[in-house]
Amino acid sequence: DSVFNHLVRAPEDPILGVTVAYNKDPSPVKLNLGVGAYRTEEGKPLVLNVVRRVEQQLINDVSRNKEYIPIVGLADFNKLSAKLIFGADSPAIQDNRVTTVQCLSGTGSLRVGGEFLAKHYHQRTIYLPTPTWGNHPKVFNLAGLSVKTYRYYAPATRGLDFQGLLEDLGSAPSGSIVLLHACAHNPTGVDPTLEQWEQIRQLIRSKALLPFFDSAYQGFASGSLDADAQPVRLFVADGGELLVAQSYAKNLGLYGERVGALSIVCKSADVASRVESQLKLVIRPMYSSPPIHGASIVAAILKDRNLFNDWTIELKAMADRIISMRQELFDALCSRGTPGDWSHIIKQIGMFTFTGLNAEQVSFMTKEFHIYMTSDGRISMAGLSSKTVPLLADAIHAAVT
Ligand code: PMP
Repeated sequence: DSVFNHLVRAPEDPILGVTVAYNKDPSPVKLNLGVGAYRTEEGKPLVLNVVRRVEQQLINDVSRNKEYIPIVGLADFNKLSAKLIFGADSPAIQDNRVTTVQCLSGTGSLRVGGEFLAKHYHQRTIYLPTPTWGNHPKVFNLAGLSVKTYRYYAPATRGLDFQGLLEDLGSAPSGSIVLLHACAHNPTGVDPTLEQWEQIRQLIRSKALLPFFDSAYQGFASGSLDADAQPVRLFVADGGELLVAQSYAKNLGLYGERVGALSIVCKSADVASRVESQLKLVIRPMYSSPPIHGASIVAAILKDRNLFNDWTIELKAMADRIISMRQELFDALCSRGTPGDWSHIIKQIGMFTFTGLNAEQVSFMTKEFHIYMTSDGRISMAGLSSKTVPLLADAIHAAVT
């Protein structure tokens, strides 16, 4: 008899489970809008040209080896990642007040940051927006933080519940940690305006809350790396402390390479270097040191003006294709006379549209139209193409009428 006989079967991950169900469906017209990964107009995964070229160079460079890299990752990668999110002329970087460690993509950066805070920060409560990426509560709970929520999304307007957000953060205990999506909020696609960000900043600083930015979509939202980093830079400019978890999964298409970074902006260079020494103690027993390949690709691209420029062009093309899918879907629903206001499809930003469809309508669309998405009605715009938009529009129309 197995010593594991008492185990019950765990449910599939609510997001990754969508793909499991999709793979089992034999229908030739099936459509997977659950997956949070970019697809081409032909529905294929995309490796950026600039990534292919750099990988070729890396392979041909016989001076490279596969020794362990430091606990904190590649030095160049870390320095350039901080520059990418904070800006080349960031005062925090110039003052050496930033410590950056290479981590396992966005998730790993959040986890390392969470464990560091649980160990060393005086307030162990983190506030997450409602809703948020489904993995957030689990990551921070297991890191040892206690998870609370703040209002974020207003179903009635399919926009931001700004008043609710200000009230909830305003009544959070002083010192609490606040998780903020840097841009392209997942799953809602709803971001504060820059004016609203400024009010959020003032509230957070006046209450001595600690901002922890999750930046999983820099450049992917608007098509501009700088524009998407504005909220983070607003907070860095006031001289206060904060954390940022960066992911290169989406904006460089490096999903499976697991490449990301955690930066902690501190008050002084001395504090930053002590913070880094403690981050090493978090990382060493967790996975010892990070992988070399993905970070080498990123460092090579960030280091070279031409490669960087090529990247921004490919990145903008991905963002633009997603934006045009929003317009096409919106137009398709209008032309069918589908009841309801669908303008949120073009107002929301980033990879996802939070359609407002309920679980029952979603399961109807899966059963009758072989269209797969998470049960909260979130669809990945990156999984759509001009060819599949009419299918989706037909399905939504049938689901709501
Ligand atoms: N944060 C958010 C908001 C995300 O949407 C994602 C990816 N779905 C991540 C973090 C982490 O992704 P990864 O670990 O692949 O970088």
